[in-house]
Order: sequence, then C-alpha cells, then structure tokens
Amino acid sequence: MEIPGYKIQREIGKGGMATVYLAIQESLGRPVVLKVMGTNLETTPEFSKRFLNEGHVLASLSHPNIITIFDIGIAEDFLYISMEYLGGGSLALRIAQGMTPEGALDIVRQIGTALAFAHARGVVHRDVKPANILYRDDGTPVLTDFGIAKQAGDSELTSTGTILGSPYYMSPEQAEGRVELDGRSDIYSLGIIFYEMLTGRRPYEGDSAITIVLQHLQASVPRLPRGLERYQPLLERMLAKRRDQRLRDAATLVSQVKALQVSFEGTRLLQRPGVGPVSAEAAQAYRGGHVTQRMAAPQGNRLRVWSILGALALLLTGALAGYFAHQINQYATVSITPSHGPPRAGTRVPGPGATATAGARGEGGEPDAMQRQVVTALKWLGRKSLEESKLTTPPEDNAHYYFSRLLELDPGNPQAVEGIADIGRRYAQMAETQIRRGNYSAAETYLSEGLRVDPRNKQLQVLRSGVQIRERSFLDGLLGLFRGEG
Ligand code: ATP
Repeated sequence: MEIPGYKIQREIGKGGMATVYLAIQESLGRPVVLKVMGTNLETTPEFSKRFLNEGHVLASLSHPNIITIFDIGIAEDFLYISMEYLGGGSLALRIAQGMTPEGALDIVRQIGTALAFAHARGVVHRDVKPANILYRDDGTPVLTDFGIAKQAGDSELTSTGTILGSPYYMSPEQAEGRVELDGRSDIYSLGIIFYEMLTGRRPYEGDSAITIVLQHLQASVPRLPRGLERYQPLLERMLAKRRDQRLRDAATLVSQVKALQVSFEGTRLLQRPGVGPVSAEAAQAYRGGHVTQRMAAPQGNRLRVWSILGALALLLTGALAGYFAHQINQYATVSITPSHGPPRAGTRVPGPGATATAGARGEGGEPDAMQRQVVTALKWLGRKSLEESKLTTPPEDNAHYYFSRLLELDPGNPQAVEGIADIGRRYAQMAETQIRRGNYSAAETYLSEGLRVDPRNKQLQVLRSGVQIRERSFLDGLLGLFRGEG
C-alpha cells in the first residue's frame, strides 16, 4: 500500500474498522500515525461515514488532551487519517500495571478537561474507555478514537452512534437508546474508568454482554473498598443512574476534582511532621469546602460508633449485592437460553424462553421490572450488533441471536421484527454486490443465510431464483427492479 507523502514503517494495530500504521511524514520527517480504511468492503458506506466523521470531529477540536489530526485523504482504494503518534501506551495498560489513587484522580481531571472542551463545542464522545485514552511520550493522557462521536446537529449519525460503545463503559441512557445522549453520558463512562483505576477491576462484570448491560441499568453504584472511601462521593455523582442526578457537566466535574486535589494536598501538608500549628481557617481553606468536610476523621467515641455502623452497612450492602447478582444471573440465564430455530420476521416464537417469560410476569400479567430490563438490554445488543455488521456471527453474539431471544421473551416485539427484517435486507444488499461482480457462489451464501433468518423476504427469494438460473441479462433486470423499488 502506498500513501503519497508518507513512508509506512509498521502496523501498530487493527481496530473495528481500520488498520493503524506508524509512518514517517516525508515532508517534515516526523513520525505520524496513519489510520487507514479499505474502501472495497461490503460494509463500506457505514464504516466510511464513521471514519470521515472522526476526521471532521477531530479537526474541530484542538486541546492538549485530545489527539491532534494532521490530514485526511484518499489514496488508491484507501481512506486515511494522519494524526499524532502517541507512543506511551494506553490507560488500559497502566490500569493493568496498577495506579495510585492520586494518579487516577488526575486522569479524571485531565480527561475531564478534554470532555468539557469537546462538550462545549457540541461533541459527545460516546465511547470513552481505557483503550481510547493513550499517552504521549511525556506522560500526558490523550483522548482518542472519535469515530462514533456525535456533533450537535449531525442527524446522520444519531441512530448509529447512540447504540455503539463498549458495554463495560456505557451509560444507562446509552443502553436504553431512547434519549439523545449528552455530555453526562461521557461523565458516566469516565466514572466507570475512575472506579477501575482505583480498584484495578471494572465495577460491572459478567459472563455475557447482557448481564453487564443490566447492571448499568439496575445495580447500585459500586462501593469503593476500605481506604478509598474519600473518593466515594465523587464516584456517586459520576455514576448516578439518572443523568439529572449526575454532575451536571464536565466543567463541574473538573472543578470538583481540583477542589479534592487541593484538599488532599492540604491534608498531606498538615500531616507532615514538623509543620507547625495551623489556624483552623487555613486548614479549612486547604480542605476546599463541603467535599472535604465529609472526609474529616471522626474522633474518640464518634469514631467507634461510626466504625460499627459502617461495618453493619457494609455487611448489609454485601448481602444485598450478592442477592441481586444472583437474581440477575438467574433471570438472564433462563431468558437468554438459545432457541432451537430462528424465528421468522413477524412470527411469534414460543420456544424454551416462553416458560421464563410466563414466570417473569407479575400477578396481573404485566412483565416485571427485571423482564423490562432484559428486553431493553436485548434491544440494545441487537441494534449494536447490526451496527457492527454482526448479522449472524459470531455465535450467540450477533443481531439475529439477540432479536430471536427478544421475540421469545416478548413475542411480536416491533424492534425485533424490524431487526430481523433488516438482517434480511442487508444480506440481500450483500448478495447484490456479489452478483454485480459475477461472484455467484458468494451471492448464494449470502442469500441462503438471509433466507434462513427471514424466509419471507421477497428480494432474497427473487434474487435466489435469479442466481440459480445464472442468466446475466435476467439478473441485470432483477437488480434494476430492486434499484427502482429502493
Ligand atoms: P475501535 O476503533 O473498533 O474501537 P480500537 O480502538 O482498538 O477499535 P483503533 O482506534 O483503530 O481501534 O486503534 C487500533 C490500535 O492502534 C490500538 O491498539 C490503538 O492503541 C493504536 N492507536 C490508535 N491510534 C494511535 C495513535 N495515534 N498513536 C499510537 N497508537 C495508536
């Protein structure tokens, strides 16, 4: 592959839609990163839209904690973005190596400033996760990967972007996919990262995406372990389930973090041996107001009473959390058991899930809260899989799988019916592309996979009869017919 003006050195990695290379920009002799996407894939329109979106969003954001873009272009069959090379590894790596609480708080501050800057310009990132925070050689953390970021007024990406993102870091409203996301969704994701930096593990884990999504929707804000309690109030404000109870914006987040940093610094200074008596006012000034007052150590008897109450609360929370996790897992396992055959668009599928469905309904026949959450999660997973073009593979993690489970749980669910019809249409489009190229056997594979999912799709049926005849002029006529219909 040749990209004029650049000398490619080596491949750095592969993302969902592009390959990333280290290259030298010949005119300036500097190392750059080239993110390159081939344009000859079936999925090109969707991916190239995201790819170009990344370029445009980055061009509008110039901030020390946001990656700098140099150029965007097209060469041969490739779209490329050239951007600064970040040689210091990712936050994911640093978390794995272990971080200090102070270091974690400082990342929240720095990435918080990047978010405040982007949000003020109408850009919501929507995929804030440790793998998308990379370090410069000088140790500055930098927010990257704006592929699914959304700029205010950009309606094109609305449907796509709201449902993408990693299940581990997604906000509850992102999972529900009902409201337009705003900066508070990014604050939530950063809150999840904050917890992970402090403890070394993610707050919501599970065997499957569905259990993770459910926890974002339902589980209480995780408690930090002993010794880290002073970060709990901030975490609570970042991870509130309802966004109107979260910190109202990233600028507020940054100022709260700065206040905490000052107060911790002040406490450290006061505790240093050899520091003389300090006036109460000065100490209070260091502590930075109400946030710190909660953290002031209780004395004497008060300390003992609080310790006992705290231990009781921890015991209770632990027991409740255990019970809750058990409930989720049981429900998700029962309801998400694979069926023995794919449902057809618009059909009702009793299947093994039916028992679970009946069991999950309340006395009055209304689906209970847990079932509603599973339905929400399945919708999200189905739509996300569609956007990622995971139509019928990988096994048990694809759009067809999730929509089928949704139909078992909620027969006739309109999103599931439409999702399955959409899979059929996509296979038809992919088959069309292959027919135009004369690759009839590839076309047949797509057609039979599409018909397996949605046997009633007319376009698939007709194309298959055409492909079986393999008569060029007949096929051209068919393709023209569908173009006319579209
Ligand atoms: P996706 O885009 O699907 O979320 P991803 O984040 O892994 O996946 P990319 O952003 O394309 O994909 O990155 C692929 C790899 O290249 C990652 O390992 C990433 O750390 C690395 N990388 C991306 N941009 C840079 C950069 N500017 N400097 C150094 N490494 C980079």
